[in-house]
Amino acid sequence: MTIGASDLKRMFDAIAVAIEADRDRLCQLDGVIGDADHGIAMALGFNAVRDALASLDLAATEPTGLLNTAAKSFLNAVGASSGPLYATAFMRAAAAVRGKAELADSDVVALFQAMAQGIRDRGKAETGEKTMVDAWQPAAEAAGASNAAGKSLAESLQAALAAAERGAEATKDMIAAKGRSSRLGERSLGHMDPGAASAVTVIGAMQKSLA
Ligand code: ADP
Ligand code: MG
Repeated sequence: MTIGASDLKRMFDAIAVAIEADRDRLCQLDGVIGDADHGIAMALGFNAVRDALASLDLAATEPTGLLNTAAKSFLNAVGASSGPLYATAFMRAAAAVRGKAELADSDVVALFQAMAQGIRDRGKAETGEKTMVDAWQPAAEAAGASNAAGKSLAESLQAALAAAERGAEATKDMIAAKGRSSRLGERSLGHMDPGAASAVTVIGAMQKSLA
């Protein structure tokens, strides 16, 4: 089984639905340590991606082109800091699968790892700084380890999701060092980072849709 452009479009549709359903919770989490717009930003971004992909001719589109379209529409739709972070993730994903019409399991894992690396490079955050990196980085590592151990894509993404959930939970015990919530210092303790929470939702939708 390989993953093609139409599978990736279905994946983005699934993410948009999951984020829309999670929108109020994400705004509430951001309301505690940020400016309460994270659910709105993510929903705007993924709805824009869904609209942009809907007008693509999938038979004539390779994964790279689709992912670059996703990057551009997400960036244009989102003014918050999650905009360039996810746009970079999709651009790096596009670059990771360039020239391939169909993706094998290991290509999808490489795409997933490229997303996490893009977020790290764009935001310059390390794990422990209470950002979405605390979910994406362990998720990418878990997916890579699972794939290297010969596990299926479904198992690798399941491992990624479990790692992302643990990572997001762990942000409750972290002091924000990057982004808007870093202004709160120790007052950010005890609360989950909204970007780490939405990363779990995104990765969960990817897992369900691609597995
Ligand atoms: P804004 O802070 O501009 O309102 P959002 O509310 O959409 O943007 O997103 C906030 C989330 O963005 C944070 O919870 C955090 O996970 C993530 N974030 C902020 N700055 C960075 C960064 N430098 N690197 C990685 N993630 C970041
Ligand atoms: Mg915000």
